[in-house]
Amino acid sequence: MNKALFIDRDGTINVDCPYCSKPEQIRIYKDAIDLIKSYKKFGFLIIVISNQSGIGRKLFSEQDAINFNESLNNCLKKFNSGIDKFYFCPHTPDDNCNCRKPKDGLIKRAMSENDIDLIGSIFVGDRDDIDGELARNMSMHYKILKRTGNEKVISYEECLKL
Ligand SMILES: [Mg+2]
Ligand SMILES: [Zn+2]
Repeated sequence: MNKALFIDRDGTINVDCPYCSKPEQIRIYKDAIDLIKSYKKFGFLIIVISNQSGIGRKLFSEQDAINFNESLNNCLKKFNSGIDKFYFCPHTPDDNCNCRKPKDGLIKRAMSENDIDLIGSIFVGDRDDIDGELARNMSMHYKILKRTGNEKVISYEECLKL
């Protein structure tokens, strides 16, 4: 079985816009790059678990979200970091789906599709009421990265130049 670093996207890996959908909006937290890199080194699968209700709200398409993720990953890879798989919930709260965090549908799907052992895995996010809540519900190890706005970030433009 595999161990995974489950990680939130907006506000954790990249600065939350909110409703980021265009590659030009990408600003990556340097500490997230390093965190992902260190878990990768220890053989963890890196899996993004993200709420993207902008899709359900028709602010952007599912393909936009896929393109954004790809651009984000290309940047991360330039730092020997990178995501193995992206999972996202496209629904709005009104849809009452079982995959919108803090519900566990998405992470359970990711665990079964990637043969992941909960023990030894970890969830990292920026919101205690969403990411922390999900992890607690699953009795999973977790870490909240509290953002102050003073973190070092790398823009998409800078990434393209690397
Ligand atoms: Mg977040
Ligand atoms: Zn959902």
